[in-house]
Amino acid sequence: MIAAMDISIRKVERSKLLELDPNNLPFGKYFTDHMLEADYENGEWKNIEIKPYQPLLISPSVAALHYGQAIFEGIKAYKDGEGNAYIFRPHDNYKRFNISAERMQMPAVPEELFIEGMRKLIELDKNWIPSSPDHSLYIRPFMFASDEMIGVKPSDSYKFLIILSPTGPYYSAPMRIYVEEQYVRAVPGGVGYAKAAGNYGAAMYATAQAKKKGYDQVLWTDAFEHKYVQEIGTMNVFFIIGNKAITPDLGLGTILAGVTRQSTITLLQEAGFEVEERRLTIDEIMEAYKSGQLFEVFGTGTAATISFIKELRYKDFVMKFDVEKWKTAPTIKQWLTQIREGKREDKYNWMWKI
Ligand SMILES: *Cc1c(COP(=O)(O)O)cnc(C)c1O
Repeated sequence: MIAAMDISIRKVERSKLLELDPNNLPFGKYFTDHMLEADYENGEWKNIEIKPYQPLLISPSVAALHYGQAIFEGIKAYKDGEGNAYIFRPHDNYKRFNISAERMQMPAVPEELFIEGMRKLIELDKNWIPSSPDHSLYIRPFMFASDEMIGVKPSDSYKFLIILSPTGPYYSAPMRIYVEEQYVRAVPGGVGYAKAAGNYGAAMYATAQAKKKGYDQVLWTDAFEHKYVQEIGTMNVFFIIGNKAITPDLGLGTILAGVTRQSTITLLQEAGFEVEERRLTIDEIMEAYKSGQLFEVFGTGTAATISFIKELRYKDFVMKFDVEKWKTAPTIKQWLTQIREGKREDKYNWMWKI
């Protein structure tokens, strides 16, 4: 048990909630009344405060802007029919946050600050959790190096913050995916398994190139042979081949260990699938497609839950799927949504009540 931390609370004088149009909540655009902010200095966390959402005052020399010690998480909170608030598997994100922190030579955030701070913040902004179907409150914890000093070294001071954004249905149309074989996202020994800010900036050029060709995202492949598939954008990837579900394994540290990925594995097993986590080549995927055994391809992630893939292109070979006929991905997506909205039994204790 971690010693209780002092979290001071300063409330807004007037809520912005009434200015919000609940029918227009694009992902990540609006933020709630309050945020949590804490400083790491001289080896300890201090100035832990929940306060009105506001800009930060930072020096141009702040270390994160120059050398990229910055990490984040993405979590969702929901309200059930009775108005109770729940967070989906926050302790899994908490663990992953500190795995990212360690890899980026940043301090661990204590559970009391991350989980208890999040709970208190959401309790305060509880009215911001949308209750309509498919709506949620997106939670964004993040940490960055805050030394005001441009020497290349791990920062001595850090800021940890949590901000909250109400979001509407994240309608993701079935995607067209380009199998990338020139640019790479992650290498063994690298930072692919960390939710480090720089990973996303580094992926944008390749994604923009794929968009120019008419694709929504790239499916990354390994850095050496460009034949083992990894993941898509901010989603893990699953292939239904024959009566098995296959997803790339996490062994080489080149793939982000998604919480939705883990939840999907569990639900696929509940649905009777044998789930394999292993290396998977693009050749095996194409062979399965040619022999009529590649039934479904989909991505998993907190933002969109499950995204269907209607087209996968590798070099000149195009694989197309009739998503209307799919059974598996739509079922898993429905189960996940129902568990999150309190309409299906929460057998695995994923919903953490606030
Ligand atoms: C966040 C993320 C995912 C999905 O993780 P979830 O915990 O399911 O949201 C997958 N891949 C990458 C690269 C990510 O950043």
